[in-house]
Amino acid sequence: MQGLMMDVPLSITSVMRHAERNHAEREVIALTADGGLKRQTYTETFRRARRLANALARLGLAPGDRGATLAWNDSRHMELYYAVSCAGYVLHTLNPRLPPRQIAWIAHHAGDRCLFADPEFAPLVAAITPQLPELRTVIFLADPRGMPVSGPENALCYEQLLEPESEHFDWPALDERSASSLCYTSGTTGDPKGVLYSHRSTVLHAMAANMADVMGTRSTDCVLPVVPMFHVNAWGTPYFAPMAGAKLVLPGRRAGDPATLCDLIDGEQVTLSLGVPTVWLALLQYLEQTGRRLPGLARVVVGGSACPEAIIDAFRDRHGIEVHHAWGMTETSPLGSFNTPRAGDERLPETDRRQRRASQGRAVFGIELRIVGDDGREQARDGRSCGALQARGPFVASAYYAPDGLVTAQHREWFDTGDVAAIDAAGYMRITDRTKDVIKSGGEWISSIELENLAVAHPAIAEAAVIAAQHERWGERPLLIVVRERGCTAQRDEILQFLAGRVPGWWLPDDVIFVEGIPHTATGKIDKRALRREYAEVLRQRPSADPLLSMR
Ligand code: AMP
Repeated sequence: MQGLMMDVPLSITSVMRHAERNHAEREVIALTADGGLKRQTYTETFRRARRLANALARLGLAPGDRGATLAWNDSRHMELYYAVSCAGYVLHTLNPRLPPRQIAWIAHHAGDRCLFADPEFAPLVAAITPQLPELRTVIFLADPRGMPVSGPENALCYEQLLEPESEHFDWPALDERSASSLCYTSGTTGDPKGVLYSHRSTVLHAMAANMADVMGTRSTDCVLPVVPMFHVNAWGTPYFAPMAGAKLVLPGRRAGDPATLCDLIDGEQVTLSLGVPTVWLALLQYLEQTGRRLPGLARVVVGGSACPEAIIDAFRDRHGIEVHHAWGMTETSPLGSFNTPRAGDERLPETDRRQRRASQGRAVFGIELRIVGDDGREQARDGRSCGALQARGPFVASAYYAPDGLVTAQHREWFDTGDVAAIDAAGYMRITDRTKDVIKSGGEWISSIELENLAVAHPAIAEAAVIAAQHERWGERPLLIVVRERGCTAQRDEILQFLAGRVPGWWLPDDVIFVEGIPHTATGKIDKRALRREYAEVLRQRPSADPLLSMR
């Protein structure tokens, strides 16, 4: 017997309608490039999204076409999030921190038809557009005064594009399974892979995020995503905040600067903020140095990399701010697990409670997590047994995007995360290792394979391995381990100079270690786990140049 309930599709358009009807006057505030604050309500935001949808139709986009962005967190980006997806196109958020060559590869693979870019990315846009024959239009997210002087010929101005358009647009009725947005992950080996979200998965993920034991967002909240809107949809913030009717603060390009972040949190009375551990460590240090307080900030969500227990404790004990440690991936939309106390935890001894608090938390409803051994059998949930972490659920990717429509790497029953974890009887999950061969520094991926390939091109290097070494500030930094060609004496600086210019500055290894031989596995691959066992700690306390912050 079938149920007799309405078959109303779960669409991003329904989030927009809900916010317009019920939270019309709640604000979306953006920190602009010149340091000012731009304020508009949800009503104004979605009115502008309608004008944008009319403009997209005028540009000749067809249903399913990809509209790309190269942009920081701001209100124009928010308008694109809704106009592109709700008009039936696919929003493709490009990560401007990747090497230009990789951005061009990704935009080409996605078949992007138009590109919306912040003016500061004009040189980057100029560098990649010649490699994108299918790209028809570039639009700079600016008014006429803010247009870049250089940049591709015929580039359009966003405000001029919107100006003549009507505020009326009939949003199409969309199949809830149709694609809404696309985000590439480089957190695997090989080429970046496109994760194609649907309207349905996005809405379910936002609902899961708003559950009381997850973000628990309320209309009285003010949410600030430090996590960029090009990182897995800022972990869902542009959807779950309007769904709850929360005020939204978008910090532009300067969110990495703790003083700016502190001013914004304080000035706008932010109650909930999300970002990678590096951001919270920098904010914590700033608060301790200046004596400033953030009494309004109740909750901080930290994910993307393992969050040191010391950060969680310091925020809680010294500043009264609850830090929730979360785990997720581009492929899981991203929320997979979230740390909030479970009934009964209060009766545990303090050491056990702390251990649970520092873990990556418990599976969010909508996601099932399990760990399996080498034989594919599920491991005990006893908190000690470790295994490959697998996930499944309605907002977990079933396959990666392929331009020819051919499905690549279908994840049939369970999705293999590439992480190694232990899960205890209460469901708390602890990431213990990673099988994928990449480095995550300050929340951004660095390809160890690309660095190794470049390093072995140096005439003095016979073999090279790059591993993720633990780092106090950045979580991980690349460490280059090399075997020199016989008779060669090349030193650290010479090798690093050779790599400089060939990779983004923040990819440069923090150090080079010279060894007689590199260990290999039985199948002849470099044994990264053995190398990590030996060298993972050598960088931990070392200060490193500030490569990421200089990009923010
Ligand atoms: P991405 O697809 O770029 O979001 O990266 C996802 C990967 O980041 C995961 O598979 C983990 O390797 C890592 N990651 C995310 N959150 C955490 C966390 N809280 N602790 C440890 N690793 C994490």
